[in-house]
Order: sequence, then structure tokens, then C-alpha cells
Amino acid sequence: MSTTMCASCTFFKAHAANTAKTLKGADLCRFNPPVSQPEAGAHVLWPAVKSDDWCGHFEKDIEAA
Ligand code: SF4
Repeated sequence: MSTTMCASCTFFKAHAANTAKTLKGADLCRFNPPVSQPEAGAHVLWPAVKSDDWCGHFEKDIEAA
């Protein structure tokens, strides 16, 4: 696996609870704020990514010592 993939990025958020049919297995990218909600009280919408996706905003995840 490349070290520049989403799974190694500080903005990657594993989302194992995601069971939506079209997004099953997808995780979340937290680089940007969530997009607007469809209605007040609805869940916020973060971009869905796969662990082997990548983009130009990659930043290596650094775990606390
Ligand atoms: S889409 Fe880009 S910023 Fe978001 S988790 Fe993947 S590499 Fe990181």
C-alpha cells in the first residue's frame, strides 16, 4: 500500500458503522468541513473515501507519542 493513500492520512476517519448500500465499506475524509445538511437535524455529510483513495491534500498521520 502506498504511504500517500487515505488510510495513512491525518484527515482519514475510519467509518466502520457506515452500512448505507451505496457507501458500504467507505470511510470519511475530514479535510474540509461537512457539506450542508439536507434538513435541520439531519446528519452532517462528510466526503466518503476508500482507504486506497488519495488526493493532493494528503498529510501523513502522526500518532501521538
Ligand atoms: S481524500 Fe485527501 S485529505 Fe482526504 S483522507 Fe484522502 S488523502 Fe487525506
